[in-house]
Amino acid sequence: MPLLLDKRHLPKLASFATANVLVAFDFDGTLAPIVQRPARARMRAPTRRLLDAVARRYPCIVISGRVLSDIAERVEGIPLWHVAGNHGMEPWEQTEAIAREVHQWVWLLRKRFALYRGILIEDKTYSVTVHYRRARAPRHARAAINAALRDLPGALVMQGDHAVNALPQGAPHKGEALERLTRLLGCDAAIYVGDDGTDEPAFGATHPERLLSIRIGHGQRTRARYHLEHQRDIDKLLEVLSMIRPVRKDRPRLTGRQGRASRRRQGFGQPRQSAEDPLTDRVRTRSVRRSA
Ligand SMILES: [Mg+2]
Repeated sequence: MPLLLDKRHLPKLASFATANVLVAFDFDGTLAPIVQRPARARMRAPTRRLLDAVARRYPCIVISGRVLSDIAERVEGIPLWHVAGNHGMEPWEQTEAIAREVHQWVWLLRKRFALYRGILIEDKTYSVTVHYRRARAPRHARAAINAALRDLPGALVMQGDHAVNALPQGAPHKGEALERLTRLLGCDAAIYVGDDGTDEPAFGATHPERLLSIRIGHGQRTRARYHLEHQRDIDKLLEVLSMIRPVRKDRPRLTGRQGRASRRRQGFGQPRQSAEDPLTDRVRTRSVRRSA
């Protein structure tokens, strides 16, 4: 898998960056370093500053496995065009039926791992993540978690970094969210950066000619076409992206009457369960209700 920031491949990056492109990022392990306690994950100050610069130049989004209210707080103040949570289920596809199903999974998992130290079960209302970073025997923990998740009725299991995720089968994943937002924001192509198995659907979301897929790290089996060697290299990528394009002055309106008309023209429907306006100029973190 080629290293994107190698000078031989920079023209590829430039060809995408000068197109009508959506720039999309995962959060944990991509914009922010992986930490022992997921609640403490933060972008480093240079990453935040560079992401701000990129978001002023490109349609820029974040698609995270975190609950929407959680990820929105972590990127507050950056002029992103959209933030999607729960692997793309929020804000469009969260339903009471999914919440009931996941509630049952969480109950079963807590019972199963009640005596297992170092395993953290994160209830995200519409999906569940089981973390094992603090387990004494991570391989054994991973195997036990995968066995438990395979027993859950109707669960799609996705591997993360020292975490395993269970999503409802048939629910949207990051690939669908990326494809949907590329279309809704009127872009012809996308750049997507992620770091683990939950990003694989996004790496294969569309034809490689319309998607520059970049995975952090190397050596994994992946659908991504390029990689960055380390998480900290995200800063170099953001810097190159911001150097290639001047600040946009023709940012389209996505809110208000004009914005609603624009979204209707793009075939955008109402979210099923959310009172939120799913496309906003900026992330409205204060209006996002906690769902967990
Ligand atoms: Mg990640």
